[in-house]
Amino acid sequence: MTSSSFGLYLHIPFCRQRCDFCAFYLEIHRDNRAEAFVRSLTHEITLSAQQHAAAHRPVQSIYFGGGTPTALATIQLTSILSEIRTLFFLTSDCEITVEAHPSTISEEDLAQLYQAGVTRMSFGAESMEDGELVRIGRPGSVSETVTAVARARAAGFTNINLDVMYGLPGQRLESWQRTLASCIALAPTHLSCYALTVEDNTRLASDIQRQRSQEPDEGLQVEMDEAAQRILGDAGYERYEVSNYAKPGYACRHNLLYWTNGEYLGWGPSAQSYLDGTRFGNVADLTVYETALTASRLPIEDRTKLSEEEQLRDAVIFGLRLIQGIPSQHLHRHARNYGHTAITAQLLAQQLIEEDGEHSRLTAQGLLQADTVAAQLY
Ligand code: SF4
Repeated sequence: MTSSSFGLYLHIPFCRQRCDFCAFYLEIHRDNRAEAFVRSLTHEITLSAQQHAAAHRPVQSIYFGGGTPTALATIQLTSILSEIRTLFFLTSDCEITVEAHPSTISEEDLAQLYQAGVTRMSFGAESMEDGELVRIGRPGSVSETVTAVARARAAGFTNINLDVMYGLPGQRLESWQRTLASCIALAPTHLSCYALTVEDNTRLASDIQRQRSQEPDEGLQVEMDEAAQRILGDAGYERYEVSNYAKPGYACRHNLLYWTNGEYLGWGPSAQSYLDGTRFGNVADLTVYETALTASRLPIEDRTKLSEEEQLRDAVIFGLRLIQGIPSQHLHRHARNYGHTAITAQLLAQQLIEEDGEHSRLTAQGLLQADTVAAQLY
């Protein structure tokens, strides 16, 4: 049930400061911690190459995420990449993405990443309105995003993503539309549009509880989602997943791995892997992570071997996020395996899922309720 594609993910667990809405595992960047982390990560990559047979498979995508990968020095990122190249076989068109905070990257950094073979830059813009960035405790400014995109292009990058969010405190439909227009003016090849969700134990959650900030308005988020479809569609971006839009040919290969049940190895604290029908995850604690690697042990905390039914379930649930949908026979086999036949019939009757004989996919209404549909089919 897994596809044959294979990728690598690196979780760089540092940021300069924590944004109010963020619940990811991360540490505030310090030079000495970063140096120790890079040593541990390099050791993890070596051990992983020795212990996983997958190391012999061609790698089609590498993704540096986090955290903020560009919180590391560029020389640290490029040395990690060259270590990977010595131990793994990269396909000639391997997609290599680095996520960057626009205010943490210079022209020279971008030139060095490009020369090292990075093929895609992904900038966390979040909003193109300065006031909205302030309200979510997001350091940096819109002008830094504009500058970062121009510098990336000058360095040679032609494949550029911008991440933006909707449903931010104080954001109106008009300001969201202005953010989309400002992004389009920068001509990225890819846009990820995420609905803000309030995660427990974040500053945003506590500000909302103390009535210092507003909870996202779900009705407005639906309108914003519809506006994104219309505005980005008119600008030539194809929606290929619930939250992702791309110019033709620029869908993110690495993210497609997750939605098509492809296999990947993840490194760094809290990184997840999926290989040979087994999901496993690293410990989400930098100190424990480093201690394990000092003892030459992989820092894996959880390991779950999936049955064939569970692999099919995941393929259905992730695959339904794709606009192209999934083979209908997979949906119905999963429904029989899990006793979800009545629920599936109901989702079809409610027109949240549609079928064309061969494929099943979420309808426009279903895409707006993708998480609810997934929960019902789990
Ligand atoms: S930059 Fe990204 S990873 Fe870091 S705190 Fe902000 S949202 Fe979280």
